[in-house]
Amino acid sequence: MITATKAKLYPTDKQKVLLEKHFGSCRFVYNYFLSERDRYYIAHKDAEKSSLNYMDTQNMLVELKKKYLWLYEVNSQSLQMSLRFLDNAFTSFFHKNGDHPNFRKKGNNDYFAIPQHMQIKGSRIYFPKFNEGIYFKGSENKLEEIKEIKQITITKSAGNYYCSMIYENNRGMPEKIPLSNKNAIGIDLGIEKYATLSNGVAIENPRFVDSAEERIKRLQKQLNRKQKGSRNRTKQIQKIQRKYKKLRDTRDDFLNKVSTAIAKQYDTIVIEDLNVQGMQQNHHMAKHIADASWHKFRVKLEWKTEIYGKNLIKIGRFDPSSKLCSDCGNLKHDLELSDRIYRCDTCGLAIDRDYNASRNITKIGMIKVGLVQPEFTPVEIATSGMHGIYPYRQMSIIESGSPIH
Ligand SMILES: [Zn+2]
Repeated sequence: MITATKAKLYPTDKQKVLLEKHFGSCRFVYNYFLSERDRYYIAHKDAEKSSLNYMDTQNMLVELKKKYLWLYEVNSQSLQMSLRFLDNAFTSFFHKNGDHPNFRKKGNNDYFAIPQHMQIKGSRIYFPKFNEGIYFKGSENKLEEIKEIKQITITKSAGNYYCSMIYENNRGMPEKIPLSNKNAIGIDLGIEKYATLSNGVAIENPRFVDSAEERIKRLQKQLNRKQKGSRNRTKQIQKIQRKYKKLRDTRDDFLNKVSTAIAKQYDTIVIEDLNVQGMQQNHHMAKHIADASWHKFRVKLEWKTEIYGKNLIKIGRFDPSSKLCSDCGNLKHDLELSDRIYRCDTCGLAIDRDYNASRNITKIGMIKVGLVQPEFTPVEIATSGMHGIYPYRQMSIIESGSPIH
């Protein structure tokens, strides 16, 4: 399977000079084509081809190198990787997953990537333009298991050089634990609490996120009062962008920890699928940020359940997961968003709203994969208004042709 590790590099002074040339040239190419892409877009906004793509910039790079011959001193594939990173940044900007790409500044996040021709021999790592290899130190266990290096990224941080490796090891993906309702968990993602699990565990939003969101809202209000095109406005925009970046980093860290913990601990995990349409229609900021983080969380969970050999069941996003009673199946039509406690008029159940939803999510997931038989009679379904809402229950009843208890 593919995994990653990081090692510290100990370059000679001569190698340091060449590393710096790589940082500089890759940054130059990134910034040059960032403004080329913006310029092209402004000039061709209404044309059929309104933006430059990766291949366009790669062809332009060939010409650029004839003009700036020093670009030949560095690994040409690393320059192409810069174009690739820029293209990715634009793609996520177009898909509203990120801000407009920023110019890279010297000394701030210096990096370059190498996609091919890397090799480790003893305690040295070899890649193009560094034929004598750079001495490095990393985790021995991890280095031993490297079968094939897929990509390396060289970074500089506080005067030190590091090498992050993505590599394939000899371990295959673990065998999946068989699907079962033992050690199964349903997750309800929310705004008030980040996640509520069907065993009653609730995961709070990290505090920093709440306060950072409040602060961004305030900064945004101040921005609206600043004159368009003024220096103060530009400064304010930069301030907001920095806050956003910090917020994203903190959230990423939180999402990594939560998704790893859940994938490690439970064998079968049920989660509601992404409602893409609802997400795009959403203009409310808090909700929009939450949607984006839920999407990230699902992606991470998908990947981590694979790594740990666990099962992930995705169900459609149905509003009734919060309106149904998780004990008797009664549908409460008049449940308001402000009702934090679910009170069932039929069986008297009174539990936390999100907890109730997470229990329903587990049930729907189990029914979907055939681990639990639907427990309601057709009469109950007919009177509860569940038609088309609980497709799996409906389907099973029609197939069996007799009421199921
Ligand atoms: Zn009930």
